[in-house]
Amino acid sequence: MCLLLYATIGGEGAFVLKQFSDLPIIPEIQSALSALEYKIPTPIQAGAIPPLLEGKDLLGCAQTGTGKTAAFAIPILQKIHQSGLYALRTQPTGLIIAPTRELVVQISENLRDLGRHTKVRHTTVFGGVGQRPQVAALSKGVHIVVATPGRLLDLIDQGYCSLSKLQYFVLDEADRMLDMGFMPDVQKIVRLLPKQRQSVFLSATMPPEIQKLASTLLHRHVTVMITPPAKTADRVEQSVMYVDRGNKRKLLDRLLSDPTRTRVLVFVRTKHGADRLYKSLIDDGISAEGIHGGRSQNARQRVLTDFRNGKIRVLIATDIAARGIDIDEISHVVNFDVPLEADAYVHRIGRTARAGASGQSITLCSGDELKYLKQIEKTIGMRIPIDREHPFHSVDAQDGELGEFHDQEKSRKKRSSKGTNSNQTKGQASSSSKPASETTRRRRSISGKVKKIKPREGSGQSSSYAKRPPKKSRPKRR
Ligand code: AMP
Repeated sequence: MCLLLYATIGGEGAFVLKQFSDLPIIPEIQSALSALEYKIPTPIQAGAIPPLLEGKDLLGCAQTGTGKTAAFAIPILQKIHQSGLYALRTQPTGLIIAPTRELVVQISENLRDLGRHTKVRHTTVFGGVGQRPQVAALSKGVHIVVATPGRLLDLIDQGYCSLSKLQYFVLDEADRMLDMGFMPDVQKIVRLLPKQRQSVFLSATMPPEIQKLASTLLHRHVTVMITPPAKTADRVEQSVMYVDRGNKRKLLDRLLSDPTRTRVLVFVRTKHGADRLYKSLIDDGISAEGIHGGRSQNARQRVLTDFRNGKIRVLIATDIAARGIDIDEISHVVNFDVPLEADAYVHRIGRTARAGASGQSITLCSGDELKYLKQIEKTIGMRIPIDREHPFHSVDAQDGELGEFHDQEKSRKKRSSKGTNSNQTKGQASSSSKPASETTRRRRSISGKVKKIKPREGSGQSSSYAKRPPKKSRPKRR
């Protein structure tokens, strides 16, 4: 049996949002919630806490920023606390698996804050640091282990941890595990779990591999969907700026010259790119830092704390390092490089507009990145509005867009001229083409339909269409 509860943030949900005090949560956790000033459960919390407290399995389709951590942490803390179980040496009762060290630390902080008046003890396990303190904590005995899959398996192999007494299992950000190549490790862990257990499976998107894994892991589960798969956070105001690669740095400077951009997360594709960019911003007197998988765990934690406290205004990050960054009030996300996958775009922009706030994302797109942008737009099901109101607007990049359109138009016409009038000569076919001035006013909609865009009359706004040089003198497209 699968019971489906569906909710959209800010939209009409299946639940009437109650107060936490209306939910059957024990006073020890209620007082922690009051101290955190959480009054109203988020949709995933309202949907997940009651069935989890009843012992049901849960499939949650929700991104970071929806309050998903507390949604599973509260019931597990409560059930372990009420059971009065001792923390057994090397044999945890609960296991939470997450793809990155940062996410593990954040989940651990949530458990610490929410469980501060309970008797539940937990520890973290992740790679990139010495294993000795982790082994010591497990040997002393903890109720819950929050872990990345690789290091956990290492410790299990060495006999420092056993899953034989496990009762609660959470797999967080399953789709990211898949992206990062952790699925074989996850599957090994799943094979070690006792049959009798309660499981929670969380993923921002639900590709077929993830659905398959969920079905093997869950039993008679409840489903809570917070954002439909691959939809971007509703409250994020998105825009794209076409710019030549060589001008991206100058455009970023211009964006940062606006003091209302108070806490800016900038995404780049590579570690090297992150290092280069944050160092050059520091050289220009901008308070910036970089975070990526090549930096030590300590450096990453320090940078995140400084960004969270407002000591650093601009954080340059790669996708993997930024996964799970739990920082409210990120005013802007800038995609300095267009992500190669639509999924990464959704995750990136989800770093802003968290916990009910609004936010903006700006994507800097050069001509060679247009194909990735198109793929993203297809996946999220919308055209990202173009912002041309900056001095670096690239006609070249926009030409790429029109060029792609022209290519498709040409082949469509070729096909249709072949089909409808096979006797037509080449010259006749080409003479029937629409003049360039008309095609430039047309743009494709996301559904692939051709949409006519009215020419702007005396708007005074810069328009790359209007500015396009005559066909013969046009620069070669990239
Ligand atoms: P998460 O999706 O678990 O990463 O949570 C996103 C952010 O929302 C975190 O900063 C939480 O502290 C915060 N948060 C979670 N639940 C609530 C709530 N019910 N009320 C206010 N803030 C919350």
